Amino acid sequence: MYKVFTPYKKAWLQQIRTHAWPLLEELPNIPVYEESEQTGLSKDWPLADKYLSDQWPTFLNEYIHNYHELRDFPFDDKTSRLSPYLAIGAISVRTLCKQVLHLYPEVIEQKDTGVSVWLSEIIWREFYRSLLFCYPNLIKGNCFVEKYQGLRWPDSGNHFELWSQGKTGYPIIDAAMRQLNETGWMHNRLRMIVASFLTKNLLVNWRQGEDYFMQQLIDGDFAANNGGWQWSASTGCDAQPYFRVFNPVSQSKKFDPQGHFIRKYLPELKNVPDKHIHEPQIYLAATGQSDKYWPAIVDLKLTRQQAIAFYGIDNEQSAIA
Ligand code: FAD
Repeated sequence: MYKVFTPYKKAWLQQIRTHAWPLLEELPNIPVYEESEQTGLSKDWPLADKYLSDQWPTFLNEYIHNYHELRDFPFDDKTSRLSPYLAIGAISVRTLCKQVLHLYPEVIEQKDTGVSVWLSEIIWREFYRSLLFCYPNLIKGNCFVEKYQGLRWPDSGNHFELWSQGKTGYPIIDAAMRQLNETGWMHNRLRMIVASFLTKNLLVNWRQGEDYFMQQLIDGDFAANNGGWQWSASTGCDAQPYFRVFNPVSQSKKFDPQGHFIRKYLPELKNVPDKHIHEPQIYLAATGQSDKYWPAIVDLKLTRQQAIAFYGIDNEQSAIA
C-alpha cells in the first residue's frame, strides 16, 4: 500500500511498462453517436459518445500539449472536462489511457510535459480510489491522518452559509461558488482555493464542504472529492502541509489576472477596474457603490495565523474558540 503519491505513480507506470503494454496496441473503437436532444445546462455535457468523437480529439491532439501551462486558469478553461463521464463510468480511464499511450508512448518516461502532467492527474484519481480500498474508514468520514480525527472545530457562525452562497466578500471565492451553484461545475484551481478558504480561513469542518460539493457537483465522486477535501484541509494522505494556507487574493491575481472569470460570475463587479477587481471594497466605497458587493467576512492574515495554530498544535488542545 502506498501512502505517498510519487512512489504510487512510479509503480503505476511500471505496471504499464511491464504488463499492460501489449494491450495498448489494440485501440478501442470510438463509437459513432446518434444525435439526441439536449437542453439547458445539459448541453454543456454532451453524451459520452459525442464527447469522444467531438471534444476529446481536440483535447488529445491540441490542448493536452499545453495542459501543464494552462490548466490553472479558470477563465480560459482548457482542461479535458472528462470528470463527469469518469465519475459515472460513461467513459473509462482505460479507454483514455490506451489512446494517450498509443499516440504518445514516450510519456511513460517523461516529466513536466503537458501529456505527462495530464496523465499524472489521472493517476491521482487512481491513487484516491486505491486509498478507499485500503482504508475503508475513509468512507465513514475519518481523517486519513489519525491525529486530526479529534479536532474540535470551532463554531463558525454563519460562515458556511456565506461561503456556500458566494457571499464571502472575496471575489474569486464568490465567483467560484456561483459557478458551482449555477452550473454544477467548478474548475480544479478554484476547488483548491475555496476548500482552503473554508477549512483554513473559516475553520469549518472539511466534511461540510465535502458534503456540499457532493450535492452540487456534476462530477461528484466520493474518492476524488474526499481526497481533494482532505488534501486541502491537510488531514489527508500526502496532503498539503497544514501551514500552507492559500491566499485567495494572491491566487486570484495569479490565475485570473484581469478578473475575466470573476466578472463572468459576478456581473455586479463588471465596471470595477482590473487593479481593484481582486479586493474591490475600497474602490467601491470611494466611488459610492459599497452596496454593490459584500464586505470581506474575515481578515486573511489573522485567520491564517489561527489556522496554523489550530492544525499545528496537539489535537488535544486544538480548539481555538
Ligand atoms: P483534467 O484536468 O482534464 O484531468 C483529467 C482527469 O483526471 C479528471 O477528469 C479527473 O478524473 C482526474 N483528476 C484531475 N485532477 C484530479 C485531482 N486533483 N484529484 C483526483 N482526480 C483528478 N474530481 C472529481 O472527479 N470529482 C469530485 O467530486 C472532485 N472533488 C474535488 C474536490 C476538491 C476540494 C478538489 C481540490 C478537487 C476535486 N476533484 C474532483 C478533482 C478535480 O478538481 C477534478 O477532477 C477536475 O477539476 C476535473 O476537471 P477535468 O475533467 O477537466 O480534469
